[in-house]
Amino acid sequence: MQIFLQTVIASDICRTMIYADYNATAPVRPEAKAAMLTALEVGANPSSVHGPGRAARKLLEQARSQVGLAIGARAQDIVFTSGGTEANALALHGVVAQLEGKCTLLVSAIEHEAVAKNAGYAGVAIETAYVTAKGRLDLDWLRDRLSKWDADRDGIPVLALMMANNETGVVQPVAEAAALVREAGGLTHCDAVQGLGKLMVNVGLLGVDYLALSAHKVGGPQGVGALWVRSGAPLKPVLFGGGQERSLRSGTENLSGIAGFGAATEAAIRDMPKLQALAAARDAMEAKLVSEAGVTVFGADVDRLAQTSNFAIAGFRAETQVMAMDLAGVAVSSGSACSSGKVKRSLVLSAMGVDDDLSESAVRISFGWDTALDDFDTVADAWLQAARRTVLRTA
Ligand code: PLP
Repeated sequence: MQIFLQTVIASDICRTMIYADYNATAPVRPEAKAAMLTALEVGANPSSVHGPGRAARKLLEQARSQVGLAIGARAQDIVFTSGGTEANALALHGVVAQLEGKCTLLVSAIEHEAVAKNAGYAGVAIETAYVTAKGRLDLDWLRDRLSKWDADRDGIPVLALMMANNETGVVQPVAEAAALVREAGGLTHCDAVQGLGKLMVNVGLLGVDYLALSAHKVGGPQGVGALWVRSGAPLKPVLFGGGQERSLRSGTENLSGIAGFGAATEAAIRDMPKLQALAAARDAMEAKLVSEAGVTVFGADVDRLAQTSNFAIAGFRAETQVMAMDLAGVAVSSGSACSSGKVKRSLVLSAMGVDDDLSESAVRISFGWDTALDDFDTVADAWLQAARRTVLRTA
């Protein structure tokens, strides 16, 4: 994909780059931009009862239907939030508040910080739900733990399990895990931020109770997300105010952002077959990197998102790779970049038993709706050139 990235630092110099960091943020889709402009032009509060307010409400409810339809849910069970982080926070703090703390959070070892840290601040007991070396939740561990559940001591089990991992793309056995938890009288929250538009997401088939989404991973704007809440599932609000979003999330809705989210979601569902077809080009790229450089591909032999590749070669530090690729006109991220842009050891790879040397060298390539098939070759060639100048030369 050829896009223009505008650097705002010095002037309006434009550079042509291949963007391979969709799991961080997908570029905004044209459908989303158009919907956002329409909503901005309405310029009224969806809670107002006058004509412009009713027009704003119509756009809001249209987006709710678009998001609901994409996940097989009723529109009225969707609560719009300021993003995936807030959706996860609402689910975790909201369920703990409603259960008055009488629960234990089982948090998978590979959750995004938006889940792991909110669980940590929820004020109840937390246990790590282990993953296998392949990066999938260990269902045997879960079965065993639930069989020993002591409701008097542990309260209700609440599992937090993501749909697909943001670093490795490994798809999690959410439906199987949720069934086990349900049988044990518990609840499941699924962070589906990386699943929407890449996998079929159907809340009924998954059998979960809460599901978090984020607009900017599907080509909508940043700063918008949603929490789906199963009708009747325990949840208390964590933000109080004007009572918007069925009183579950007060605050005037970000109408243009939500309109963009709805339009992007609809387009992402339409484009899903195209995205899934990227797997063949991704696999060919990985095969080339394995044969020419001996890289280790994480999650290679389990079900993975078609557009994600996370690999490493010991001794070639992730920061160096990211910078070399940037100079070569390819935007990638380290396997474990945090919000400050610094590279830290990946907890996901550690949970999979990957040693530190390899983990510190992990880079993530993630493609999306505007990727051309030959982008994979360009990325592979850029990476191999950088590796030959450094780690392969000394090998
Ligand atoms: N959950 C996962 C799996 C993510 O990848 C991200 C973003 O990287 C989030 C949650 C947070 O979403 P947001 O950036 O919309 O707050």
